[in-house]
Amino acid sequence: MTHEEPLNGFTGFSRKNNSFKYVDVASSERKEGAIPFDESKIDEIDERERRWAWVEIDRSAIRHNVMVTKHLLRPGCKLMAVVKADGYGHGAVEVARTALNSGADELAVATVDEGVALRKAGISAPILLLAQPPATSAPLLLGYHITPAVYTPEFALAYGETADAHHMKAPFYLALNTGMNRIGVRAEDVIEFERQVQFHRGLQQVGTFTHFATADCPANLDFEIQLKRFTEAIENMRMAGIDPGTVSAANSAAIYRYPQTHFDMVRQGISLYGYHPCPETRGMVDLRPAMSVYARITEVKTVPMSEGVSYGLNYRSPGSVKICTVPLGYADGLVRMLSGQTNFILDGQYCKQVGNICMDQCMFEVDLRTYGTRKRLDPQIGDVVTIVGRDGDAVTTITEMAYNAHTIEHEIAIGFSHRLPRFYV
Ligand SMILES: *Cc1c(COP(=O)(O)O)cnc(C)c1O
Repeated sequence: MTHEEPLNGFTGFSRKNNSFKYVDVASSERKEGAIPFDESKIDEIDERERRWAWVEIDRSAIRHNVMVTKHLLRPGCKLMAVVKADGYGHGAVEVARTALNSGADELAVATVDEGVALRKAGISAPILLLAQPPATSAPLLLGYHITPAVYTPEFALAYGETADAHHMKAPFYLALNTGMNRIGVRAEDVIEFERQVQFHRGLQQVGTFTHFATADCPANLDFEIQLKRFTEAIENMRMAGIDPGTVSAANSAAIYRYPQTHFDMVRQGISLYGYHPCPETRGMVDLRPAMSVYARITEVKTVPMSEGVSYGLNYRSPGSVKICTVPLGYADGLVRMLSGQTNFILDGQYCKQVGNICMDQCMFEVDLRTYGTRKRLDPQIGDVVTIVGRDGDAVTTITEMAYNAHTIEHEIAIGFSHRLPRFYV
């Protein structure tokens, strides 16, 4: 039986000509008087008018966070703005420009391509790559003026050779492992390492850095040990006649908690974006979160009592609520772990996100009962909902989302970078 034949007399599936074909209005088939689409115009439709979900970045918050931090450093101590992972999800180029205009001296990235992207955007400030890339990327490092971290003689010599072949010097930061055990030359091996690379005329050590594993943990001995190993390694280098260049150790947590770690330059990451690296820094510095996330309601409905909502139907309607849908989900960084664990804000009032967060959409409830001073909400399609940020007296922070999702702010903020359009205010 072919599907053209009637099925028990039912002909619904047997229509022959039910496929749709777009007629290009610019083609000869077009009807008289039809207006063709202007491609340049349709591509200009604002992203917020294509999809009702977006991220807003407040440049003045980043500016504030750089300035209050710079103020805590001794005069002459440089501030490096860490803009890896697309500026922790805030947009590396915009953040870099704002930070540099606000007093930051240098930039740090995590990959060669992140550095190249900054250069292609016209940024000329020094860029440190916080990792040692494959030696085959050396021409990119030299061509785009990206200074790598170095910790193996093999890389150092290959990098130096490449520079030498172009009659250039190859600047590098020596990465010291003082206890985190991620990357770096072990502090006690530093002189040995220097002996292996110092002779190379192409190489030039412009700095030495280490990274703390526990600067954001309650006061601890491991931190003290790392700091001691670092200062001793720097001293040993100087005693051996080796110039360590710019000495740097502090990440955000260490900047505020341990001024003795400032040395020549600090590396400000998470606090640049307005998040405290740990509860201990809350009373030490006033930081302003730069990221807000918004969406518009795409559907509003009443769901009869006890009917479920979203995959798994884990949430059941109490009947006295309206269920609203917004077009963002875990593919946009609203991590699924937060299902039922975060509040959206509508018209200055908290509304509980309900049901499992889907890939591209999720739902929240609007309580229709009036109690206390709470005014009754009347949600409509198109209303703006705050997913992250402040609306009136209500605020949902990335900090509380991170807590509820059992992770850190870094991961939540970076998550919002993947698919949502970003706007700067
Ligand atoms: C990411 C990173 C930083 C920034 O750390 P925050 O805690 O975000 O301030 C500094 N240094 C190194 C080596 C890093 O990898």
